[in-house]
Amino acid sequence: MEGSMRAMVLREPGQPLREESWPIPRPGPEELLLRVHACAVCRTDLHVVDGELTRPKLPLVPGHEIVATVAEAGPEARGIEVGTRVGVPWLGWSCGYCRFCVSGRENLCDFGRFTGYQVDGGYAEYTLAHHRFCFPLPEGYPDVHAAPLMCAGLIGFRCLRMAGDAPRLGLYGFGAAAHVLIQVARHQARRVYAFTRSADAAGQRFARELGATWAGGSDEVPPEPLDAAILFAPVGALVPAALRAVDKGGVVVCGGIHMSDIPTFSYDLLWEERVVRSVANLTRADARDFLALAPQVPVRTEVQVFPLAQANEALAALREGRVRGAAVLRVLEDA
Ligand SMILES: [Zn+2]
Ligand SMILES: [Zn+2]
Repeated sequence: MEGSMRAMVLREPGQPLREESWPIPRPGPEELLLRVHACAVCRTDLHVVDGELTRPKLPLVPGHEIVATVAEAGPEARGIEVGTRVGVPWLGWSCGYCRFCVSGRENLCDFGRFTGYQVDGGYAEYTLAHHRFCFPLPEGYPDVHAAPLMCAGLIGFRCLRMAGDAPRLGLYGFGAAAHVLIQVARHQARRVYAFTRSADAAGQRFARELGATWAGGSDEVPPEPLDAAILFAPVGALVPAALRAVDKGGVVVCGGIHMSDIPTFSYDLLWEERVVRSVANLTRADARDFLALAPQVPVRTEVQVFPLAQANEALAALREGRVRGAAVLRVLEDA
């Protein structure tokens, strides 16, 4: 396909994205050319744009929660037909032969490449993706509602797996990931305790509407001890706070790619086999399993939609905590 496309481009971290006209890229042998319909805006995008993740490709088209249709396939890209609607996640490629890949941990691949960070992503009318890292999407989700499944949903789901069967689950930070995950957790008959900034009454109300047993400030102690807590807010001080809230043997899962420093804390908080761990990236198995589960729950996403050209406004809204649910860029007009 010839011609040009609109793209929102990061030229320099710390600077706003610029609307530019780029040539429509040509797919390599194993790649798909994708017509982007929608792309959700993730907190990781903020970390990239703000320069907290320090090794982006530049210039860069951000965005790794892509909903698109296949416009053209490279000669060795088999298995997904032109015209198929697919989702593209953060994991853009893994090598398949390093010791992590061969042990079911391609999320930790030594040579992994990430969408909207090391390869161009979805804040554009077209993008390329490796055919093995595109996933057919469930029917019944309009494009803008499907987009947040691709990271908020997927990473949240991986965090939930790492939390174990924990019947009493705490969620710190009630944004895009938590609003999806609470629906999965309730479907699994878990009790959910939602923690937000202490003054965020709207966020706490939103959590209760979605079935939280309790919602309060992150400085509060929940009414009963938790079996696990997942941290989506990128605030290191929440690690000791969450350790205080979990029972003996409890797990604290840090779901973000970047977090402010964790303050020192007494060993007492970790004693009795409490565990602190991070979750990094995702595997294709996570994607397949979550995309099969989402329509069964059924997960419904609440979205605040921005046109592509307003990507900077969407990022600002996310940075300032003004988004209820997930922020999504509408790229194709009738998406
Ligand atoms: Zn690998
Ligand atoms: Zn993300």
